[in-house]
Amino acid sequence: MASLRCRRDFCGVICLILTYFSVFYADYVVIQYVLIPAYADSVWGTLHGSLFNLVLLLLLACHSKAVFSDPGMVPLPDTALDFSDLRSQSSRMNERGCEGWTVCSRCETYRPPRAHHCRVCQRCIRRMDHHCPWINNCVGELNQKYFIQFLFYTGA
Ligand SMILES: [Zn+2]
Ligand SMILES: [Zn+2]
Repeated sequence: MASLRCRRDFCGVICLILTYFSVFYADYVVIQYVLIPAYADSVWGTLHGSLFNLVLLLLLACHSKAVFSDPGMVPLPDTALDFSDLRSQSSRMNERGCEGWTVCSRCETYRPPRAHHCRVCQRCIRRMDHHCPWINNCVGELNQKYFIQFLFYTGA
C-alpha cells in the first residue's frame, strides 16, 4: 500500500533518496575526516564511530517507520457515494448528532472532524498535520510520533 504510493509520487521518491544520501554522506564525512584523524588507532575512535552509527541507525529506523506507516487514512467506502443523495444524507447525519463530519468530494467519503484531504496522497488523513516531502508521506495522527523522533535524531 505504502510502497505503491511511493512509486506513484516520483518527486517524493527523489526527496527520499536525497535524504538517505545526505545521511550516509554525513556519516562518511564524519568518520573519514573527523574521527579517523582525531582518534587514529585509539579505542575512543571506534567507540565514537559505533555510537554515531547507532544514532544514524535509529534515525533511519524512525524515518522508514514514518515513511511506511499509515498516517491515519480515512478508509474509502466500498461503494462510492451517490452524490444525488448526498444532501439528504448529510442532513440526516446532522440530525443524528454526528457534527463535524464532512464529506470529501475527492475521496467521495465521509471524514471525521479534523481530517483533511491531502492532494499528494489523494486520501483524507485524520488529524493531518502536513504533507512532508522528506518522508514522502503525510504527518498525521498515527505517525506523528515517528516524525518527531526523526526530527530529534536529525538534530542529535
Ligand atoms: Zn479526501
Ligand atoms: Zn500526504
